[in-house]
Amino acid sequence: MKYAVDENGFYGKFGGAYIPEMLYPNVEELRQNYLKIMQEPDFQAELQMLLKDYVGRPTPLYFAKRLSEKYNTNIYLKREDLNHTGAHKINNTVGQVLMAKRLGKKRIIAETGAGQHGVATATVCALMDLECIVYMGEVDIERQAPNVARMKMLGATVVPATSGSKTLKDATNEAIRDWINNPEDTYYIIGSVVGPHPYPDMVARFQSVISEEMMAQLSEKTGRDYPDYVVACVGGGSNAAGAFYHYLDRPEVKLVAVEAAGLGIDSGESAATSVLGKEGIIHGSRTLLMQTEDGQVTEPYSISAGLDYPGVGPMHAHLFESKRAIFKNITDEEALQAVLELTRLEGIIPALESAHALAALGRIGAGPDEVVVVNLSGRGDKDLATYLDRFQLNGK
Ligand SMILES: *Cc1c(COP(=O)(O)O)cnc(C)c1O
Repeated sequence: MKYAVDENGFYGKFGGAYIPEMLYPNVEELRQNYLKIMQEPDFQAELQMLLKDYVGRPTPLYFAKRLSEKYNTNIYLKREDLNHTGAHKINNTVGQVLMAKRLGKKRIIAETGAGQHGVATATVCALMDLECIVYMGEVDIERQAPNVARMKMLGATVVPATSGSKTLKDATNEAIRDWINNPEDTYYIIGSVVGPHPYPDMVARFQSVISEEMMAQLSEKTGRDYPDYVVACVGGGSNAAGAFYHYLDRPEVKLVAVEAAGLGIDSGESAATSVLGKEGIIHGSRTLLMQTEDGQVTEPYSISAGLDYPGVGPMHAHLFESKRAIFKNITDEEALQAVLELTRLEGIIPALESAHALAALGRIGAGPDEVVVVNLSGRGDKDLATYLDRFQLNGK
């Protein structure tokens, strides 16, 4: 596969494992075992059972009739919002918690920004009776109180990161410090296609169930197993990686990656890494990231906490550079309009992140005979307070 990872952990010139010496044993143990474990029949049987009966897969592929009429094309929504815990993240945490168990680990750590990955991790740890520690920036703990409450309810310990800007990148530093100090018994569940090899590849494989199901569902509904376009939002890039995965080497499928422009590309308040980023190393891999002249990571901004990340995973950096994927960016305002549009046309309240993908529908130029799949990565429950406020529905 041309766009998949190579044996050294690279996608073109991006990827690799740029890690401190002290993490080498952990990462190496995972690298040597992950493919072998994922292929074991017992592992697959348990994973498939959990995806079906616990997560609720396969998720529907829904033909959005009124939305299609509006854009004069044929739009299908891949309903990841219907997964247990409300987004695609659990596809990955279920896979990685089984991986941790196979490696004999007793303690799970994770970092989270918006809290969605923290909730998905705390959920599978409750299920598997494993200790769970989630690092989260102090600022994010305040901003994302409902998800903090869910994690606590699930029995996880939420540890505030109090250094730097007290957000996601600081939480990541804390998680890595913990991992270095507890190499024997601890497994680090990373929530997107980021981090040192083999994480980006492993997470992409766990999320690839999305495009695997799409192929079968499209065959049944349209008579061919591929669409003309797959559209997905990109924070770190895991839902997009899953939606693109089985189409990466099929050039007849146009892959559309949608980033958050925040208040606008030139506003200084943005998270559109493909436009604003430069090559560098973040979280152990070479990729595109937003940084200052002297290489300090820039604080990103988006109204959607899940897209508020200063980099993209190495697979996406390569898809951008090789022009295999088309990159678009969408402002806060455009995403909010797309939220209202989907809600009122289809009766589905999307997550703010997913709304960025929906907002790109007007920009791709799909024709009346073409088929577009939008990966609806999550549901909007977590964003309701923002919606009520921004749409002035409070007190009505
Ligand atoms: C976390 C999240 C994202 C962004 O993460 P990716 O790894 O880029 O998929 C997108 N949508 C939802 C609903 C999320 O929770």
